[in-house]
Amino acid sequence: MSLREHIAARIRAEGPMRLDHYFGTCLLHPQWGYYTGRDPFGTTGDFTTAPEISQMFGELIGLSLAQKWLEDGAPAPFTLAELGPGRGTLMADILRACAGVPGFVQAADIHLVEASPTLQKVQAATLNASTVTWITQAADLPDRPLYLVANEFFDALPIRQFVRDGGQWRERQVGLLEGALVLGLGPAQPQPMLAPRLDDTKDGDLIETCGALAPIMSAVATRIHTHGGAALIFDYGDWRTLGDTLQAVKEHQPTDPLSDPGGADLTAHVDFEALATACAPCTHSRVTPQGVFLERLGITARAQQLAQALTGQALNSHIAAHRRLTHPQEMGNLFKVIAVYPPLTAPPPGLEP
Ligand code: SAH
Repeated sequence: MSLREHIAARIRAEGPMRLDHYFGTCLLHPQWGYYTGRDPFGTTGDFTTAPEISQMFGELIGLSLAQKWLEDGAPAPFTLAELGPGRGTLMADILRACAGVPGFVQAADIHLVEASPTLQKVQAATLNASTVTWITQAADLPDRPLYLVANEFFDALPIRQFVRDGGQWRERQVGLLEGALVLGLGPAQPQPMLAPRLDDTKDGDLIETCGALAPIMSAVATRIHTHGGAALIFDYGDWRTLGDTLQAVKEHQPTDPLSDPGGADLTAHVDFEALATACAPCTHSRVTPQGVFLERLGITARAQQLAQALTGQALNSHIAAHRRLTHPQEMGNLFKVIAVYPPLTAPPPGLEP
């Protein structure tokens, strides 16, 4: 049996499958899920992320969080957490960069929120010098000050898609046509939760919702509001999504989201308005392009410093990595960052209220 056969059998038995159920099954099915059994990152994998491009990304994020921790009076102990840590590279870079901040690493109780057993093992190898606790959901984070980062985590949460039909909505679903998986539309129905979107859409427009986003954001924000701390969230997307942003990627190439269930990465753009809404009673920073944030924190000076020790191919790829992280035509503008922090406190450096 393959994941495709498993999904087809379910559709035969139960009818068309909601897109978020398909998406979640493809990524995290216990046996055949995309993340469950593989390490997909890097040039030999399916895609590359900012921490895998350059150590500078994690270093600057770490120092921004550590500065906020100092401004908060250096609470100890505190939870240093990451959602969806991939290979653990970002957390390793944060810890190395913050080793010079007195007391920070000693007071940090590291928690990684990771659903994939395979990636937990990769993270354990990357972070073998540190004591780490793994949890599979944000709801299990400890009740104490929380300094948290998430990069390309929320884009991996399953979405639903709805097409507007008059004052009602038709949901996109995965069905079967002559044995092949196909996308179709369910019947037009009222959707009370989508009432606000009747104001900014017209007939035929497609919108996306992510049911898992708000409970996770809220679990993080509640702890930050009660005990102090901050969260830095990086992802591609913007304020309020419109249109179909579902993407499948395999071996660095876009592919059809239905063609290889469990064999390709699935993502969707993150709706930063939904993050901002769900972070109450915390406040949030302006949504800021990743390139602007990194420049404000001095990535160019850090890049020049690192370049002094490099020559030849290593120097060229270092220069390319700096450009890739910050240039508006590369990741600098497509990726955004938002900070979540308690009201009446300052945002972490690099961001504005
Ligand atoms: N932050 C990393 C990896 C991003 S890929 C980087 O920047 O390189 C998404 C990560 O989130 C993977 O580690 C994946 O296993 C994890 N993940 C996806 N959905 C999850 C969920 N619902 N709960 C916990 N972890 C999840």
